[in-house]
Amino acid sequence: MPIDPTQPYDDANIFARILRGELPSNKVYEDDWAFAFHDIAPQAPVHILVIPRGAYVSWDDFSAQASDPEIAGLARAIGHVAREAGLVETGYRVLYNVGTHGGQEVPHLHAHIFGGRPLGRMIG
Ligand code: C5P
Repeated sequence: MPIDPTQPYDDANIFARILRGELPSNKVYEDDWAFAFHDIAPQAPVHILVIPRGAYVSWDDFSAQASDPEIAGLARAIGHVAREAGLVETGYRVLYNVGTHGGQEVPHLHAHIFGGRPLGRMIG
């Protein structure tokens, strides 16, 4: 079920538990700002999630409240992960689902990186 993006951050959400090491994940990268792991139900040959370490529900609170280093850190981590996954030559897609209409299901901000095949044109 898609989430309400205005809900308060829930420390018990599944990605918060992955960040704390309470649940396993197939990690591909981590640094001071971000953590990346393979999606458990991949929708493309490469499907990696990149999440900030900070407690943000969605792009809305992240863009309004995160510090500039946090925002830059997430952006740099996404680029780094895509490069390391070998996606630069072929290209890839970065996607944030936000809230109910966006179809967001996990209430901790996450960027999807999709690649490894032509993804088709998607405008909405
Ligand atoms: O953007 P949205 O919230 O819909 O995406 C959540 C993503 O988290 C899904 O692609 C789902 O497969 C993934 N997921 C995961 N590991 C979990 C729970 C969900 O990779 N334990």
